Parts: sequence; structure tokens; C-alpha cells
Amino acid sequence: MTTPQSEITSETKERATTLFSEHQQSLHKKIDRMFAALMLVQWIFAIAATFWLSPRTWAGSASQPHIHIWGALLLGGVISCFPIFCALARPGEAFTRHVIAIGQLSMSALLIHLAGGRIETHFHVFGSLAFLSFYRDWRVLITGTIVTALDHFVRGLVWPQSVYGIQSSETWRWLEHAGWVIFEDVFLIISCNWGLQEIYAICERDASLQASNASLETKVQVRTASLREANERLAALATTDPLTALPNHRALIDIIDKEIERSHRYNRPASLLFLDIDHFKALNDGCGHAVGDAALIEFGQELQKGLRAIDTLGRWGGEEFVILLPETDGELALEVAERLRASIASHLFEAGGGVRITCSLGAATYSQDALSRSELVHAADRAMYAAKKLGRNQVRAVSDPIVNTLDSAIESSREDIATQGTVEALARLVEVRDDYTGEHTEGVAQLASQLAKAMGLDETEARRVSLVARLHDIGKVGISDAILRKEGKLDEEEWRLMKLHPIIGADVVSHVPSLRLTMPGIRGHHERWDGRGYPDRLEGEHIPLAARIVAVADAYSAMTTDRPYRQARSHEVAIEELKRSAGTQFDPAIVEAFLQVFERATRREERGRAA
Ligand code: GH3
Ligand code: MG
Ligand code: MG
Repeated sequence: MTTPQSEITSETKERATTLFSEHQQSLHKKIDRMFAALMLVQWIFAIAATFWLSPRTWAGSASQPHIHIWGALLLGGVISCFPIFCALARPGEAFTRHVIAIGQLSMSALLIHLAGGRIETHFHVFGSLAFLSFYRDWRVLITGTIVTALDHFVRGLVWPQSVYGIQSSETWRWLEHAGWVIFEDVFLIISCNWGLQEIYAICERDASLQASNASLETKVQVRTASLREANERLAALATTDPLTALPNHRALIDIIDKEIERSHRYNRPASLLFLDIDHFKALNDGCGHAVGDAALIEFGQELQKGLRAIDTLGRWGGEEFVILLPETDGELALEVAERLRASIASHLFEAGGGVRITCSLGAATYSQDALSRSELVHAADRAMYAAKKLGRNQVRAVSDPIVNTLDSAIESSREDIATQGTVEALARLVEVRDDYTGEHTEGVAQLASQLAKAMGLDETEARRVSLVARLHDIGKVGISDAILRKEGKLDEEEWRLMKLHPIIGADVVSHVPSLRLTMPGIRGHHERWDGRGYPDRLEGEHIPLAARIVAVADAYSAMTTDRPYRQARSHEVAIEELKRSAGTQFDPAIVEAFLQVFERATRREERGRAA
């Protein structure tokens, strides 16, 4: 594998050179250590060899240790010790290498001498040069060669036997030996250089790999950083309301959960305020949605000014905000809420060129009012709703008894309250049209609701019956004044028209989706138990229950009220009339329930008087 030239920059080259010299350094040190060991072993071997080859020198019968033993011991020591010392003390240095080369080839010379110039010992020279070539440094080989050549030359002249094993020798002999050594050197030097080239190529490849790794690493780091940033941005977006930049619904849920956990662990109070802007729809409708948006932003900023750093203000949704007040009991929460209410009420909003905005606030406190996040939010919401019902621009705590009093109305769901507005509007229409019917329907609605409950219907059903009662005569807006206000009996045609009012009423409410459930009751409120009523001549239990209940309540109310054509009758007379008509005009079970309602009421009254 070769690295494309184009990728090798000057930095890579520099790095390759560093790697190369590091590699050489460590190689040199390693070979230095190897020679230190080798020279020690060699020295010991030389001493052992002299003991074996020529242990003693003889003069007649007397002998003494051969001079070679001293030579091996002392000369060998001198030759070996300094290189060993250099290898240990200054490993890796060129000086050490050359000292080792000199020592090693001096050792060869000593061994040749100790062996009496035997030709086999000359191979020690070749071996030594081969070992020296491990350094991959041709200069070391030259040093070694010079030592050998000099040794052969000098000893060839002075003492040929010690080097060539013969008494006299020709002067060219040293050149022959030197020639063989140089012959070996040529191959060793070539091999050294090839080795160096290969090592350099490897270093260059390593360097360029390292460079590309480093650039990859940098790329990965840059990408990771930008990913992290994108993640953080996403997380912030997921928990921030884009309009007001406040924590959104989801973030609030997390924050409240954590605060409740903390409050629970340390047994500390925490309060929650629920805020809803008053008549915000009107601002939107009057000034436009953009102004509404600007007002929401300003509203958030204004609230934030009045809060501590540990408080959290967030947008719960639409024009509803939530404030979490850690370490705050109910009393303090009310103070904070009141302060916020006042600051909003007195603030002139820049949005829309200076408008006034108020808000209604509900407060609830953990753990006195609620034990969980949903309970706490629900409690504060209930209190806020009570504040709305009590006239807006005010603060209510959920612990305020009035909240519970209003609760039954509030529990009837927000939709019912919206429905209530429509019902009131329609009822008002009848009232304006016909005084009697207006007053009358309120009485009928109350009676019908009591009756429904007495018959065991639940809250929702009772409310529906009361709605039917309130609207049962709405169809009368389609009947002419002449008929409606006529004193005296109606003629046949007039009756025919009059009998249309349940149909007209049912048709009117059919146009209001939330009132459609009242249609059957309205249409059926003039049906009779015996099937002789109108408009559909339904009989018995085929008549909707709401209609049957309203029929009784309506009849009682009609009998006990002055009509254009007759005087009001007494309660007793009306009761008698109802009893008489039970099973013909009215559902007997309902008449029975009606009597019980009155008996209970009478007993209560009597008990009250007695007390
Ligand atoms: P009140 O609470 O006093 O009973 O009256 P309201 O008119 O404030 O009540 P309602 O809850 O019916 O109306 C809330 C309005 O808030 C309806 C909706 O158009 C408006 N709204 C909700 N979110 C936004 C918003 O992001 N921007 C704007 N401009 N209006 C919003
Ligand atoms: Mg609202
Ligand atoms: Mg509102």
C-alpha cells in the first residue's frame, strides 16, 4: 500500500521524519542493550576458551598460568567494559555505537590472537559486522572495518603469527583480509539502506494515517458539537412556547412534578396560581389577532417582573398562564397573586396602542389543597373559575368556601356554561315576547329539576330536564300575539296554530348543537300519558321522560299562576287536579314523585316554624 503523493503534505513529511527518528532511537537503544549482553558473554567465553586451549605455559617441568589467560582476562576486560558502560549509561547515542563497533572488532582481534591466528576465528569478524548491521547505520560498519584493517596491518607487520597463524607473511595479506571484510560490508550496507528506506516508507504511511485520523477526529468533533447544539435547540423548542418564550404546557408539567416531589421530600409548601385573561376574545375580535398576540407577550413580561427567580411562569395554553411558587404557603400565595393582579390591572398595555387588561387568578397550595400535580392544577383552575364567576379581575384561593359553593355550577363543565349563555338568550327572547311565559319557565325549570332529582336522575340528566323546562315554550315566539295574548277561549283554528309551538320550539333548538339533546323533550311536552296529546300522540313511556316531567311541572305552574283567561288556583286545588289527571294526562309515577317533593318541603317548613 502506498500513500498517494498528493496527500503527503509538508506537515506529514515532518511527522514522518519524527516518527522515523523515534523509531531509529529505539532501535539503537535496543541494539545497544543487545551488545552489552553479547560482549559480557563473549568476554566470559574468551576467558573460558583460553583455559581450555592453553591453560598453562611450561618451562621445563615448571609451569605457570599461560599469558593468554591474563590477556583474555585483562585485555578482554578493557575491550568489553567501556562499551558495556556506554551502552548502559548513554544508550542510543552515535558515540556509543562507534565505541561498541571498536570494542566488538577489537574482541574479534583478541580472539584471533588467542586462537593463534586460526582462520575459523576470522569468522568472528564477519559475525560481528553482521550484528553491527542491526543498527542499520553504515558508518558503524566502516568504523568496525577500519579497526579490523588496522589490526591486521599492524600485527601483520609486527607479529604475523598472532593474526595469520604463520611466522612470516606477505604485506598484501592484510589487504586480502580487508578485501573480504569490505566485500561483506557492501552487502550489509545495501541491506541497511533498503531497511532504512522501508522503515521510512512505513513511517510516512503512519504519519499520513495519523493525519487523516486527526482530520477525521476534528470532523467528528465538529459534527458532534453541531449535533449537540441542534439537540439543545430542539429540546428548548419542545419546552418553550414560541410566542411568549415562556415554558410551555409540557415543560410546566415537568417543573410542577419535580417541585411537588421536592416539596413532598422536604415537607415544604408550594403554591400554584392559575391565571386567565378576562374577555380576551373581545380584545382579539376588536383589535385583531396580532394585537392579541402582542398583548399575550406583554402580559407574560409584566407578570415576570413581579416574580422571584425561583418562581416559574409558563403558558398553560391560549390565554391561560400558570405560576409555580416554591416554598410558598397559601397565605403568601394569595398576597403574590393579589400583587400580580393589581400590577396587570394598572398596567397600560402598549399592544393595540394602550389597552387595559385584567385577569382572574386561582390559587392552590401543596399539600393543604392537593396531593398531586393534576389535583393542584385542577384546584387552582377551579378557584380561577370561581373568580371569573364572581365578576373577574380578582383572586380566589381554592380553600375559599365560596369556591365550593360555586363548584356545582362549575362542575357542570365549561361547555354547559357556554350553553347556559345560549339558553339565557333564548329564554330572554320568550320573556320579552311574553311576560307570563318568561317568569313561568324559570319556575317550571326549578320544579322540573327538583322532580328529576326526586326520581333518581343524576346531575347531568337533571340539568338536561331543567334545560328542557327552561326552553319548552320557546316555540311560542312563532305564535302571533293575537293568539298568545287572547283573553278567553281560542277557536279551532287558533288552537291548531297554538298546538304548533312544541314543533317550532324543537326546530329552534335543533340549530344549536349543544341544545340538540333537548329537542325530544321540547317536542313532547304536550303529549299525554293516555296518548291523546299533541303533536305526535305518543303514549305512556314512549313519551320522553324529560317531556313527562316538564308536563307535570308546567301544569302545576300554569294552574298556580294568573293567566289572561283565568285566575290562579291554590296549591291544594292544583295538587288535587294533578292527582286526578295521573294516569290520563300525566305519568302517575311523576305525579307521585311530585307529591313527595311537596310533602318533604312542607315538613321542612313545619320543622323550621316549630324550631
Ligand atoms: P373570560 O376568560 O373572561 O371568560 O373571557 P375570554 O374571552 O378570555 O374567554 P375565552 O376562553 O372564551 O377566550 C379565549 C380566547 O383567547 C379565545 C382565543 O381566540 C384567544 N386566544 C387563545 N390563544 C391565543 C393566541 O395565541 N393568540 C391570540 N391572539 N388569541 C388567542
Ligand atoms: Mg380561557
Ligand atoms: Mg379568558
